[in-house]
Amino acid sequence: MYRSHNNGALRLAHAGQEVTLAGWVQKVRDKGFMIWIDLRDRYGITQIIVDEERSSKALLETAKALGREFVIQVKGTVIERESKNSQIPTGEIEILASQLTILNASLTPPFTIEDTTDGGEDIRMKYRYLDIRRNPVKDNLIFRHKVTMEVRKYLSNEGFIEVETPYLIKSTPEGARDFVVPSRMNEGQFYALPQSPQTFKQLLMVGGMDKYFQIVKCFRDEDLRADRQPEFTQIDCEMAFIEQEDILEVFEGLTRHLLKEINGVVVDKFPRMDYDDAMRLYGNDKPDIRFDMKFGELNEVTQHKDFKVFNSAELVVGIAVPGGNAYSRKEIDKLIDWVRRPQVGALGMVYVRCNEDGTFKSSVDKFYNQEDLAKWAAKTNAKAGDLICVLSGEINKVRPQLSALRMELAERLGLRDPKVFAPLWVVDFPLLELDEETGHYHAMHHPFTSPKPGQLEMLDSNPAAVKANAYDLVLNGNEIGGGSIRIHDKKTQAIMLKHLGFSEKDAKAQFGFLMDAFEYGAPPHGGLAFGLDRLVAILGGQETIRDFIAFPKNNSGRDVMIDAPAAIDDEQLKELNLKLDL
Ligand code: ASP
Repeated sequence: MYRSHNNGALRLAHAGQEVTLAGWVQKVRDKGFMIWIDLRDRYGITQIIVDEERSSKALLETAKALGREFVIQVKGTVIERESKNSQIPTGEIEILASQLTILNASLTPPFTIEDTTDGGEDIRMKYRYLDIRRNPVKDNLIFRHKVTMEVRKYLSNEGFIEVETPYLIKSTPEGARDFVVPSRMNEGQFYALPQSPQTFKQLLMVGGMDKYFQIVKCFRDEDLRADRQPEFTQIDCEMAFIEQEDILEVFEGLTRHLLKEINGVVVDKFPRMDYDDAMRLYGNDKPDIRFDMKFGELNEVTQHKDFKVFNSAELVVGIAVPGGNAYSRKEIDKLIDWVRRPQVGALGMVYVRCNEDGTFKSSVDKFYNQEDLAKWAAKTNAKAGDLICVLSGEINKVRPQLSALRMELAERLGLRDPKVFAPLWVVDFPLLELDEETGHYHAMHHPFTSPKPGQLEMLDSNPAAVKANAYDLVLNGNEIGGGSIRIHDKKTQAIMLKHLGFSEKDAKAQFGFLMDAFEYGAPPHGGLAFGLDRLVAILGGQETIRDFIAFPKNNSGRDVMIDAPAAIDDEQLKELNLKLDL
């Protein structure tokens, strides 16, 4: 037996007991005649004491030879500590060692294994196994486990069955590139790793599974953005014989359960917002509604004066920054610089100070009088003491620009409290989205999403106006889940694929299996998927998903610990039929 207790278990009540502990040496304090060792494992830290009076010489020698992160086993007696440490649960006792065995030595670790470490991100990723010994990382992994356990518990209780679907499949379009795997046995042919189990979960519905879920890895070869992982985890779900309302209810229930069990937060019914309203009021399809600062559209009250910039703009839109009139001229100039940064891309910003006495002072006083500005204030809901920030230009550009400014200002004003949770359903997404570069429409969600009843015919006449039974769950300005009611008949699916630019032949080659299945009694069905990594990070009050993944990839998609991706040798390439004979 390696240990009788773990290092977080012993209390004063154990005094006098003979125990055996094992773990890592966090710290050795050597006073010459007395040595203290902090022994650590996943459960905590226990202090070990070895001294000249009560311990053998050999024991003292062994203790002196210990270094940080040595793995040791200690036998000894639990005794009351003279100077107690109220910071840790084992702080009232220590172990008077009678035997000390080195189970494994350790090199000096490249960074300190403590809550606040001296190691930078790169070195910690290279030695992630050491990083995992630190409380903040370890606690995050335990936290993630708790969340997934609660998910499984809740969904099982609701009658969902967890079913595994294959990883070596054919392309499932979720809008990214596929990672592919060459097949050795089928020369020149490749599997694709799933961007999601979308088609399989639909086939499970055809198979009569009725309620499916899976905590599953998905793979998307996207251009990497900060905090995106090429492989990530979804809570993937699907139900048969349901309507949108049923789905929203079940998964609102799941989210509410998590908020209660994990965060102790009780949330009422989640509000819902149309996609169009979200875009109009927040410039964004995942609005953070923990704070207000809604957009006020100002075309009506700004155009047809002499200010050319506004007159020629498709959209003039502003927000009221609470208390913003207190900003100095310099601070406002800095804000203007901020919106002009290439990452935001605005050309400039007009502002209005709302003075305490009810008057206004704007950067465009030449063109607008007090009465005009009062109208702007009414539209943006600005109060005395606020600052109105106004941007203008093309709708598709201005909205994200002002949305970025809104989020930045809210952050600065401390309005994005991670302990406050504001979930929101965004519903009625458009079915299609115009790709500005190619001029083609593609599926906003994915090609299996059904149009709203009666809108299929509009695909020809006005494709941009067709709405889908598609919904996203948003939490604190992050999309944590999304899904849709699916197409479940072959004819509609074929029409949809045609509109997405698939020839009949391509549609059959790629999705023939699904459309064939639809001919054998496919039930009406729909579902959604949560992004588990992000969900866990938000519930954990943090923004970085990497911190909740045991072995994440860096921003270039590399695992710097195992050094992947890597070249493979010629033999292997040949075996896979990938070696070009030049
Ligand atoms: N497969 C979708 C996704 O990965 C989710 C869904 O429609 O259920 O976004």
